[in-house]
Formats: sequence, C-alpha cells, structure tokens
Amino acid sequence: MPNPFFRQPPPVHPLLRRSDWRLLLACSLGLSLLLLVLAWGITWQRLDAERILLEDNARTQQENLATIMSHNLDQVLDRGRLMAIASEEWFDGHRVDATNRLAAMRTADRAFLRIALYDHQLQRVYASSPDTDSSGLQDTLHAALAQFSAGSPSRIALAHRSSRHEQAWHIPLLFPVASNNAIPQGILLVALDLGYLLGVYQSLDFGRSGVIQILTVGGEEIAEARQEGLVLNTQPRSYRQFSRAGRQTHSLVGDFFNDGRSYLSSFRQADSFPFILVVSRDTQDILAAHTATRSRFLTTLTLLTAIIAAAILWIAQSIRRQGQLFADLTAAHQENHTLIERLEEEKHRAFILAAHDHLTGLPNRRMFNELMLSHLAQAKRSRKHYALMYLDLDYFKTINDTLGHHVGDLLLQNVSARLRLTLRESDIIARLGGDEFAVLLTGLDSVDDTAGVAAKIVEQISLPFNTMDGHDIAVSPSIGIALFPRDGVDIDTLCRNADAAMYQSKRTGRGKYTFYDSVLNPPGARRFNLEQRLPKAIAENELVLHYQPKIRLSDYRIVGFEALVRWQHPEFGLIYPNDFVSLAERSDLIIELDDWVAQACCQQLASWIAAGLTPVPIAFNVSARHLKDQGLPERIEAYLKAHGVAPQYLEMEITESLLVESIEVAGQVLEKLEKLGLRIALDDFGSGFSSLGYVRTLPIHSIKIDRAFINDIRNSPHDAVIVSSIISLAHNLNMRVIAEGVETFEQLIHLKTAGCDEAQGYFFSRPVPHDASRELLERAILAPATPS
Ligand code: C2E
Ligand code: MG
Ligand code: MG
Repeated sequence: MPNPFFRQPPPVHPLLRRSDWRLLLACSLGLSLLLLVLAWGITWQRLDAERILLEDNARTQQENLATIMSHNLDQVLDRGRLMAIASEEWFDGHRVDATNRLAAMRTADRAFLRIALYDHQLQRVYASSPDTDSSGLQDTLHAALAQFSAGSPSRIALAHRSSRHEQAWHIPLLFPVASNNAIPQGILLVALDLGYLLGVYQSLDFGRSGVIQILTVGGEEIAEARQEGLVLNTQPRSYRQFSRAGRQTHSLVGDFFNDGRSYLSSFRQADSFPFILVVSRDTQDILAAHTATRSRFLTTLTLLTAIIAAAILWIAQSIRRQGQLFADLTAAHQENHTLIERLEEEKHRAFILAAHDHLTGLPNRRMFNELMLSHLAQAKRSRKHYALMYLDLDYFKTINDTLGHHVGDLLLQNVSARLRLTLRESDIIARLGGDEFAVLLTGLDSVDDTAGVAAKIVEQISLPFNTMDGHDIAVSPSIGIALFPRDGVDIDTLCRNADAAMYQSKRTGRGKYTFYDSVLNPPGARRFNLEQRLPKAIAENELVLHYQPKIRLSDYRIVGFEALVRWQHPEFGLIYPNDFVSLAERSDLIIELDDWVAQACCQQLASWIAAGLTPVPIAFNVSARHLKDQGLPERIEAYLKAHGVAPQYLEMEITESLLVESIEVAGQVLEKLEKLGLRIALDDFGSGFSSLGYVRTLPIHSIKIDRAFINDIRNSPHDAVIVSSIISLAHNLNMRVIAEGVETFEQLIHLKTAGCDEAQGYFFSRPVPHDASRELLERAILAPATPS
C-alpha cells in the first residue's frame, strides 16, 4: 500500500537535464561540420572545374595558334619555292629576266630579306644585296646539294646561320633549283625574316610566358620568340619531345625549358616543309587568374572555418562550464531531495507513533476517530450497514495484577492478532487503551451479519491463549454494539451507545455481545429469571415508562407521545418490552402490566397539567388478552377520573394481529372505549393480514404503518408504493396515518411527499425518560436538521 504521508520527490527541473544540452551541442557541431565540409567540397569542385576549363581553353587556343602558324610558315615557304622556280629561268639562259624577276619578287615580299642564287658549282651567280656570305655557308651548300641530288623528298634545307648580330633575325633557307629534270642545277638561298614572320603574332595577348619556337623535324631549335623579343641562344637546344609532331596538332605539359617551370606546349609540323611550330606557355601563367580566385576562395573559406571552429570551441567551452554548473545544481537538488525524503520519513514515523498503539501496532483512539469520521461520511452515501463494537476483556485487571504487566501485554498483543485474523481487511480495529478495543465493521449487507461477526469474535477470543510467558490464559470479551444510523449518526453518539451496550454485556454475564438496540439482542437464558421476577417488578414499581414523540409532518410539532414500558432490572439493567411483555402475556400478568401503564400515563398527563404545560395525548399499548377484558373501559375511566385527565388525552394502540384473533369481543371493548372519548390507533399496520376494508367497521382513528415498510422505503420501490397506497386509502377512510420507525431524512422526505400525517422514530427522538419528555413537550417543535 502506498504511503499516504510520503510525498513524491519534486521533479527534476528541465534545465537540469544535461542530456538535452549534449544532444543540442552534438547536433550543432555535426551541422557546422557538415556545412564546412559542404562548403569546402563545393568550392574545391568549382575551382577544379574552372582550372580544367581554363587548361582546356588554353590548350585549344595554343593548338589553334600552332596550326595557324604552321599554315602561315607553309605559305611563306611556298613563296620561297616560287622564287626557286623563277630562278630556273636563269639556268635556262634568260639570266636578265630571271634576275629582274627575282629582284621584283624579293622587293614585293617582305618575308625575305635577301636572296642569293648559286650554280651547281656553288658559285654565287646572283645576290639581292652585296653582303658577303657567312664563312660556314659553303659547307651547308655542299650538304644541301648532295641531299637534293640524292633525291631527298625534302625540298628545303637549312643553311648555316651567320653569327653576325645584324643577321640574327635571318633564317637562311636553301631551295633546290631544277629546270627540266630533278637534278638540281643550282641552289637558291632565301633569308627568311623572323621579325616579319613573328610580327604577325605580336598583337596576340599570349601572356608573359608565351614562347613561339620553330624547330626542325629533328627537334633542333631554329628560332625562339618570347614576349620581350627574339631569343638568341648561343647553343641551339634540342626538343626531341616535339620531333614526332606529324601533321596533327599535339599538346604536352612539362619542364621543356629546364627553368624549373611547367609549360603547356602545343606543336605541329608544317604541311609541306620539315619544320615544327611550337607554342608554349607557362601553366602558372595560364592559371594565374584562376590561382588568384582560388587563393581568394581558399582564404575566405579558411577564415570561415577558423571562425566557425572558434565559435564551436567557445560554445563547447561555455557548455562545459554550464554543464559543471548543472552538475552542481543537480547535486544540490539531489541533496535537497534526500533531505526532504528524510524529513518525510521522520514525519511519517512520528505520525505512525502518534497514531498507533505502541504495544499492538493497532490505530489508537485518535487515529480510530479519524478513520471513523471518514468511514461515516462514506456510510451516509452508501446503502450498506456499519457497526461499531466496543470490546473489553473480562477480568483483565486480575490477570494483570496476578501474573504481571508483561503477561498482560502479551495477552493484549495476542488478542489484537486474533482480532486481525477474525475480521476482514476492510474492518477497522483499534486499541482505545487498557484492555479496551474498538472495531468498526464496514460495508455490511445486512444488520443481521453483525451478530454473526460478534459471535465469532466472542468465540475466537474465548479460546485459550497458550504459553503466555509460561501461562495458559483463558479470557472472554464483553462486546457492545451500536449500529449506524440506527443507534447514532455521529461518532460521539455511536461510541457512547456502544460503550453502554458493552457495560450491559458485562453486567449481564460477560463473554457475550449486546446490541445497543435491545430488539436485536438474542433471547437469553435469563428469560426464566425475568419471568419469575416480573410480578414482583410490577408490584414494586421496577417498571418505567419512556415516551417517544409523534411529529406532525406539516409543521413538525409534537402532537402526541407513545408510552413504551421498560423494566429497570436491578441486575440486568434496563430491559426492553420485547424481553418481558411476551412473558407477561403468558399469564394474566399482562393485564396488570397494561393497567400499570395506563395508570402511569394518566399520572404523567396529570403532572404535565399540574406543571402548567399544555399536554398532548399519550398513547399506550395494550395486548390482545386485554382486549378480551370487558372490564377495561371501566378501569380506564376510573384512572382518568382519579388523575383528573380528560379522555381525549389518552390514546390506545392495538396491534393488527390481535384484532384478527378476536374481532368481535375486541369490537365491543373498542366501542366502549370510543364512547368514553379515547382515541384508538391500529399499530404495526401491514405486518398482519387485515385490509383497511376489514378494519373500517371498527372505531379506529389512526393507523401506524409498520416500521418494516418504512425501513425499506428507500431501497424497495415496492415498499414505497405500498406506503403511498396505505396513506391514500387511510385518508379515504378518514383515518390519520402515522409512520413508525423513521430513521433517516430520506424516509421523512418520502413520507412527506406521500402525504403522511405524522411520524415517529429515532430520526426525531428515541423514546426518552419522563423528565426528558417534559423538555420535549416544552420545546413543542422538532424540526429536522438538514443532513450534511
Ligand atoms: P410498538 O408499539 O410498535 O412500539 C414501537 C417500537 O418501535 C418501540 O420499541 C420503539 O422503541 C421502537 N422504535 C421507535 N422508533 C424507532 C425507530 O426509528 N427505529 C427502530 N428500529 N425502532 C423504533 P420498544 O419500546 O422496544 O417496544 C416494542 C414493542 O413492545 C412495542 O411496539 C409494543 O408492541 C410493545 N410494548 C411496548 N410497551 C408496551 C406496553 O406498555 N404494553 C404492551 N402490551 N406492549 C408494549
Ligand atoms: Mg405501539
Ligand atoms: Mg408499532
């Protein structure tokens, strides 16, 4: 069972949940890293694509240039060959014409600076300018003549270049001059002007590192031009990589100039001549713009990365600090919680100690009262029955005094254990102090169950308790029972009545249970005792009358009392009529008894009148035997006269069952009494077999509905209908209707609604002794308190 006094620990503050923070941090870190990787990836890819595009563009551009230049060279060299063809005339004998033509052609073509014609003995026969030939020329002329004569497919040869500075721009080319057959008759030397050839490309933006080269098919460099001008290499270099050029344009990348830099070189051989055109450019130069963009991007990205990394670092730092703070807070929270828990436990322990009996562990009186309070509140709403039992151990004091407190304590513990075993979980057991226990039976289906439980308790507790510190002890309990709501609706009343009933048990023999409402008590062995003593009791005035008021429901005024006889027995205490009236009825004693009551009623009325009170009628009950007594009316008349009481203040209640037995005689007696002025009521109506039609012949003024019907009015719709019909039928016969045994507010409401005239019952008042009845008479009105 959960501890009702223990509070749940306060929930952890959401800020204290570090896992959330960690998750958040991990997510943001992951996201930042992802963004960075993406940024780097995209930038890298873009830069790469741009570089490839730039390289492709440069390659295409260079290859185009190499192609155009090779075509251009082809065209220029073709013009040189034309000059060689024109020279053939010279060998054909038209020397003047040939000379003129050559001079005209040279003048018209700025690509050539100088031309000279040599015969097959390599004697210069014509020169466009008077310059002397270079020293090594004869050798190259010989070599060329031999090459051309051998039928070489090459129709051009390179002559020895002059080392003179002013001729550095000249490329001396040799063309064979043949007239009729293929055997060359002479050689034409044509000095190609590199300045002219390359000047065409000067306007091209070819970058700072652009290089244009003319190579032989063997890769020997003939000329090299850069942005700053023609480069004169004292030792002509060889570029074998480009020697396999062919008539297709190719590109290669490499450190071709041995200057530690990488060049993109595009090259192609001229279509008709054995020369290769190479266009090269430093790859760094090509990618200069790209490199600048790239470094700008990379710098920005690096900066961004650094900033993000710094931010992440900062966040991580502050979260670590926060985490520390949270850890401290959580520890403080935990500490607080532990403290609160300890306090709650202390409180709970203190509560248990204060609310329970330390010896038996049962709730003590205080706790029992609290539990009763809550159960009675529940009981008011439920249709179940509740019973309070007070239990006291007979002769406990003697056991305590003779065997010692230790044995007494052991006995109390064992009694409480047996009580626990005997009763249900839902029943409440408490030790009120000393040897006094209290039990609240809860949620009983019927009042009759109470007697069974009480008998079981008596039986169980009466069994011997063995080995109580070496002693075998036999005790018996005395139990008093008060029923809710019958004997009280509040704790005080129920406790008082249960206590009274318990003392009744003790007085009348111990080891037994007694209901506060004696009607419920079992017939005992004392029956005999009572029967023996009854005549003496009537004679010695041991009988007393209790008066129960009858309330008019229209204004809650007391309109009468019913006198109910009790026997104040010197040994058994107050004994109720059910225990002795039937004994009296066995003999003529009942006549004595009823007479005593009738007289006592007259006496009571006289005392009220003497006290100056306005009396209300008192009803007395008579038994069947009495109704057969023809002398009754006279005796009643005598009593009235003796006490000076008007007969209308006396009412007689006869029970339905009695009427059935001797209707004729009873009728005569009743008529006499009516004549006398007495009012007559039919008691316990509904319990017998008579119908209202049957009793209409008798002088009956009012009927009292039996309390069995009233009791069930709330639970049984059937009874509710019967009550309503009795009321309306009785009204039709001009009889007043009185409801007996009204115990609850709900019953009262129902009766009022059904038109009942008067009510009598514990709800308004129990039967009370004569002095209390006088107080009631003075009060005159008993308005019901609205139930809580
Ligand atoms: P009764 O004449 O029907 O009397 C009413 C009985 O119902 C009384 O019981 C009364 O205490 C009880 N009572 C009243 N209100 C309530 C209530 O709200 N709930 C419950 N459970 N009971 C209620 P009591 O005094 O024990 O009398 C029992 C019967 O004994 C009477 O029934 C009557 O028949 C008879 N009796 C009483 N006094 C005399 C008497 O002087 N002479 C004769 N012959 N019989 C008497
Ligand atoms: Mg009665
Ligand atoms: Mg009655």
